[in-house]
Amino acid sequence: ITGHQQLHVYLFPVPAQGHMIPTVDVAKLLAARGLKSTVICTPLNAVSISKTTERDRLSGLDINVQTIPFPAAEVGLPEGIESMDKITSPEMVPKFMTAIALLQQPFEQLLEEHRPDFVIAGMFLPWATESAAKFSIPRIVFHGTSSFALSIGESLKLYKPYEAISVDADPDSSFVIPGLPDKIEMTMAQLPDHLRGKNVFSEMMEKVRESELNSYGVLVNSFYELEPAYAEHYRNILGRKTWHIGPVSLRNTDTSDKAQRGKKSTIDEHYVLNWLNSKEPNSVLYVSFGSVSRVSNNQLLELAMGLENSGYSFIWVVRQIKNDDEESFLPKGFEERIEGKGLIIRDWAPQVLILDHEAVGGFMTHCGWNSTLEGISAGVPMITWPMFAEQFHNEKFITQVIKIGAPLGAKEYNMWVDAKKVSLVMNETIATVVTQLMGDGEEAKEMRQRAKEIGEMAKRSVEEGGSSHTNLTTFIEEMKQQLHVFIFPATA
Ligand code: UDP
Repeated sequence: ITGHQQLHVYLFPVPAQGHMIPTVDVAKLLAARGLKSTVICTPLNAVSISKTTERDRLSGLDINVQTIPFPAAEVGLPEGIESMDKITSPEMVPKFMTAIALLQQPFEQLLEEHRPDFVIAGMFLPWATESAAKFSIPRIVFHGTSSFALSIGESLKLYKPYEAISVDADPDSSFVIPGLPDKIEMTMAQLPDHLRGKNVFSEMMEKVRESELNSYGVLVNSFYELEPAYAEHYRNILGRKTWHIGPVSLRNTDTSDKAQRGKKSTIDEHYVLNWLNSKEPNSVLYVSFGSVSRVSNNQLLELAMGLENSGYSFIWVVRQIKNDDEESFLPKGFEERIEGKGLIIRDWAPQVLILDHEAVGGFMTHCGWNSTLEGISAGVPMITWPMFAEQFHNEKFITQVIKIGAPLGAKEYNMWVDAKKVSLVMNETIATVVTQLMGDGEEAKEMRQRAKEIGEMAKRSVEEGGSSHTNLTTFIEEMKQQLHVFIFPATA
C-alpha cells in the first residue's frame, strides 16, 4: 500500500442549520486538502446541502452527500420536520430528540458498508462514538462553539450552581463562575436548563460529555488567537486533543458560496448587494436571531419601534411564530416609513454576504456561535441579545472578553420555541443601544477598531501559515497516523 491512500471522512451533523452549515464548511475544507468528505444527513436536509456541494464537486472536490431517512412518523412528528428550525412547539422537542437517537442504527449500517477512516460527528450525537468504535473507527466531536463557552460549561458542571446557590436566591443576582481565566459573572436565570438542575437535558449533556471523553478529540470552530487562555484552559480540563480550525465560514469566498450556506435565501442576493451598495460604509445595522429562535409578536413590535426610532438604516431578518398574523407585529405604516432605510427579509437571509459588506457597521445578534464568529470574521461590532443554548456565554465573550459588543440586557434563558414567556426588551433600550453602537462616540469608535483588528486576525488564521490552517494540517496528519500500519509501513 502506498502513502497516497485517500482518507475518507464521514461528517455527521445534528439536523439543525447551526450545525449543518459549519459541518459542510468543514467537509469542504477537508476535501480541499485532498480527502474524500461524505456528509450524512436526512433527505430534506440533503436538498439544501446539495446546492453548495454540487458546485464544489464540479470544481473537483471529492465531496458527497449520503442520506439517512428521518423517522418522523415513528416518533409522531409531522412529515417534513427534519431540522430544528422546523420545530414549532415545545412538545415536538422530545420527539425530535428520540428521532435523532433512531438514526444510530442506519448510521452503523453505512459505517459497515463504507468503512470511512474517521468520523466527525456533532455533539448531540453522543452514540456516534460507540458506533464508530464498533468498526474501530476514531470519532471526533464537532461542538460548534468556542473554547470559552465549553470552559464555562465544564466549570458549571463541577460547581453545580443549582446546589451551590440557594433556591430562594434572586434568579437575577449574579455569581462568579469559578476557575476561569477571567472573572465572568452570570445569573441563574441565564443558565441553560441542563445547568439549572437534573432534568432530561442534563441527562443528555452527561451523555455528550461521556462521549467526548471517549472520543479521539474535539474540533473547535474558533481560532487560537481569539481565545488563547480558554483554548489552553479547555484542553487542560478536558484532557483531550483539541484543534482550533475556524472560522470555517471563511472557507466561502465568492458571492455564491456566501449566499448558498444553509437554506435558500428568501431574497435575491444581488438585490441585497445593490441595496447595500447604495449605503455609506458602516451605516447599516444587520439584525438576525439565527435559524431557530422565535421572538414573540409583542417583542417584534418593540424591536420595530426601536429600530425606527434609532434613525439608522437596517436589514432585519424576521422569523415569526407560525400561525401568528403576518403583519400584526409591525407598527401602523411602518413599512412605508422605513422604505429605502430598512430592508425586511422574511425567513432566510444570505447572512455572511451581508455581514461582509462594507456598508454593514453593526450586527444585532442572538449570539449563536456561528453568527458570533461570522460577525467577528467580518470585523463588525455587535449588539447582543442572547436567548438560549450557550448564547449567554457567548454574550459574555463578546462584551467582556474581546469587548466588541454592547448588551441589550436580556435577562432570561428561554427555550427557543417558548419565546412568548420571556420579558420584553423595550424599544427605548433598543434605540439607545443601537444609537450608541452605530454612532461616533469614543467607545463605539474603539469597539469598531477592535472588531476590525480581530476580523483581520481571523482571516490570517485561516491563511497558509496561520494557526487554524496549520492546525488543520496537523489534524489531517494525525488522522493519517491513525492508519499508519496501513499507510506507512514501519521503517526499522
Ligand atoms: N443564517 C443565515 N441566514 C439567516 C439566519 C441564519 O444564513 O437568515 C445562518 C447563519 O449565517 C449561521 C447559522 O445560520 O451560520 C445560524 O447559526 P447560529 O449558531 O448563529 O444560530 P442558531 O441558528 O444555531 O441558533
